[in-house]
Amino acid sequence: QEKDYQFMLRTRSPGGFIPAQLYEALDELSETYGNHTLRATTRQGFQIHGIVKQNLKTVMAAIIHSMGSTLGACGDLNRNVMAPPAPYVNRPDYVYAQEYANRIADLLTPQTGAYYEIWLDGEKFLSAEEHPEVKAARQRNTNGTNLDDDEEPIYGQYYMPRKFKIAVTVPGDNSIDLYTQDVGLVVILDDQDELQGFNVFVGGGMGRTHKKEETFARIADPLGFVAKEDVYDLVKAIVATQRDYGDRQQRRHARMKYLVNDWGIDKFRSVVEQYFGKSVAPSRPLPEFKYEDYLGWHEQGDGQLFLGISIENGRVFDNGKLQLKSALRQITKQYHLPMRLTANHNLIIYNIQPSDKAAIQGILNNAGVLAETEIDPLVRYAMACPALPTCGLAIAESERAIPGIIDRIRALLNKLDLKEEHFVIRMTGCPNGCARPYMAELGFVGIKPTSYQLWLGGSSNQTRLARTFLEVMPIDELEATLEPLLVFFKQKGKTAESFGDFCDRIGFDALRQYSDTYDPA
Ligand code: SF4
Repeated sequence: QEKDYQFMLRTRSPGGFIPAQLYEALDELSETYGNHTLRATTRQGFQIHGIVKQNLKTVMAAIIHSMGSTLGACGDLNRNVMAPPAPYVNRPDYVYAQEYANRIADLLTPQTGAYYEIWLDGEKFLSAEEHPEVKAARQRNTNGTNLDDDEEPIYGQYYMPRKFKIAVTVPGDNSIDLYTQDVGLVVILDDQDELQGFNVFVGGGMGRTHKKEETFARIADPLGFVAKEDVYDLVKAIVATQRDYGDRQQRRHARMKYLVNDWGIDKFRSVVEQYFGKSVAPSRPLPEFKYEDYLGWHEQGDGQLFLGISIENGRVFDNGKLQLKSALRQITKQYHLPMRLTANHNLIIYNIQPSDKAAIQGILNNAGVLAETEIDPLVRYAMACPALPTCGLAIAESERAIPGIIDRIRALLNKLDLKEEHFVIRMTGCPNGCARPYMAELGFVGIKPTSYQLWLGGSSNQTRLARTFLEVMPIDELEATLEPLLVFFKQKGKTAESFGDFCDRIGFDALRQYSDTYDPA
């Protein structure tokens, strides 16, 4: 008899869009076939964990019939395309970012009918709108490639060497961790708010392997500017470059970041230009990026409201006093509101009538869901990957461990009279880096069952890569390790300087020297 194999299923949700009908379906499916929880991911999708193999087809079909999809949410192809989730209808830059995230997701969706043959017995059911521009761009062959008629128009016969990640954002909004993407696009408008094109970044990526120096986290480089009418062809050219030159021998070296790193951005650009058939223009100036999480109530620009709700560790469940899953179910059934997932595993509900605000807030209050002003900022800005027990790659705890670890860090800050201090903490159970710990001000990366690599020096707006401060830190030594660093920060930090900026400025030698001579008495 076959074992009861269990699966995790993840939605494809460009820009984090989850229609009310899909949320209702996911909620029910997680109760009937999953582990009674939903997991908001750090890539703006939902995961259902614990689906046994014989139920997979039922669950997949239900998702597809509820305006959802899982096509391309896993595998060696373009993954979920990210975009800032704020539903500002009067901000053309945000509207364009979400529109182009959808279209690029469509552009790079595999054209195979196998997905529908397997999960819907051949019934073709497209939830995504097919844009004529996208269809046309897909048909236009990428310069320099000769694909057979029966091959995927962009992926060819062999798909990509490795997963591929794209995000579209607006100037100044780094809610989607732009620098960690294989391709990042930034909307550029003119003075009349007309779309001109996009600044393009390439070669970011988080995954690495412990003790393999040839693997590393990397932040993206600016490639240049592309006019709006050429954006699909440039994206295809970048995908084709990685498809044809990405390393297919060593999987650990297969992400596009290694190609960009090995070649350098200038050679990478010139090869992309051969596929593109023209030059890539210089980048347009951009303002500084900020990290945005959109928690709390906001005007969305058409008289309606949106509400950002914090989901600690991305886990939607009912647990004692916190009845988040029941509250979201009640809100969805009663008001049929669409949602957008954020890249920080939180959730936005939008199109809310102002007259419904008090009732919706009441449902959340009764369910014990904290308002953004009640959440410790250490928790608010933290991220953790699922790790144990659901991820087969996990070496150490992450989601289940981080609440206790944050409590200990908060207690330490209070003890050191740093009560107002907070910083970005991210934790993963293995070096794959799903919660992007290498961008954190304080990053924990599982290396043994009860030990973590400690990463320091990322910035609070996720534009600078952190570095390894300690190869192995037993979690029992958390306070002993952090106390000297925080005392040093208290003594030598500049006014308004964040912990990550301090660690980067002062340097790891000085941090180590101070720690070595620190006397807690
Ligand atoms: Fe990702 Fe590793 Fe965490 Fe699994 S344990 S979710 S692979 S970072």
